[in-house]
Amino acid sequence: MKFRTLTLLMTYKCNAECDICVFNCDKYKNDIMNLDDAYRYIDEAFEIESFENLAISGGEPFLLYDSLIKICKKANQKGIPITISTNGFWAVNVEKARSVILELKSLGVTSLYISVDQFHAEYISYECIKNILRASKNIKIRIDLHTIVTKSSLKLKDIAQELENEIMGYQIVQWPCIACGRAKTNIGENEFIYQETIPSCICSNLNTLVIDSYGRVFPCCGITDKTNHLSANLAKEHSIKEIIEYFNNNVYLKLLETYGARWFTEAIDKYNIDIKLKNKYTSLCELCGDLFSLDNSENIYREAIECEKQKLINKYKLASNT
Ligand code: SF4
Ligand code: SF4
Repeated sequence: MKFRTLTLLMTYKCNAECDICVFNCDKYKNDIMNLDDAYRYIDEAFEIESFENLAISGGEPFLLYDSLIKICKKANQKGIPITISTNGFWAVNVEKARSVILELKSLGVTSLYISVDQFHAEYISYECIKNILRASKNIKIRIDLHTIVTKSSLKLKDIAQELENEIMGYQIVQWPCIACGRAKTNIGENEFIYQETIPSCICSNLNTLVIDSYGRVFPCCGITDKTNHLSANLAKEHSIKEIIEYFNNNVYLKLLETYGARWFTEAIDKYNIDIKLKNKYTSLCELCGDLFSLDNSENIYREAIECEKQKLINKYKLASNT
């Protein structure tokens, strides 16, 4: 696996408690990424050629502003482009927004990933987001706006309306709410917007190495944390090189990376594997959760993997004999 982005999930603490939060973040969480750990992750990752950029997320990383700035300084010394995800609560007026953005820009932050939708608006006013947009107009920094929607929630056009003229010149993207984390309990089953077919594609996030404040590592977005196959408690005691080696030796990731989720959904049918899949999914991540959530999923796919491996070996033997 070749990782391009190192994501530091600084905390699960957040000043919001959105119903759609896949990480179950809230104000009661008290975890904080240790700064020395963060520095080590950056040093070790960016010694590896494939890493190109750093993403910082949470929870709400701006709640730990001093640490956020220190991490940016560290990455900036190495010339690493930085993206920060935020709910924008800190932009209480244009002046404040401008001074924060200018400081971030001077430290190598090239883009801000901002969530704005009906669910975030329960906690963070649209005015904060508008202040960020107003303040960024003449600053060369990329602002990506993201809106999560359910069947009856406000949609992108409504959010664009809320942002009025300030949205001019910025990109805003609409995503369906993923049935993971808090959304699974707080959003009604009928409110999710399901994909028309069971997702089968190859995940495009398998080039992102996520490390959270507890030292858990994920080879992708980290949304599905209920499986040992897509996460591990490794970062506190292992180097980034060792973590990558660990993921490279993970047969499930290899199959996901090479054939996509389709390999597993087909194997479940073909080998009568005892995993009950739903007939509809909101996203590939939700499906991943079901494919790998069982403690014994290692053994459950073992026969399928061995049989398919043997078929490939026979095929190559045949090809080399002819
Ligand atoms: S702002 Fe983001 S991190 Fe915070 S609760 Fe909402 S979705 Fe979760
Ligand atoms: S689809 Fe699976 S591998 Fe990809 S980001 Fe989601 S949980 Fe990770």
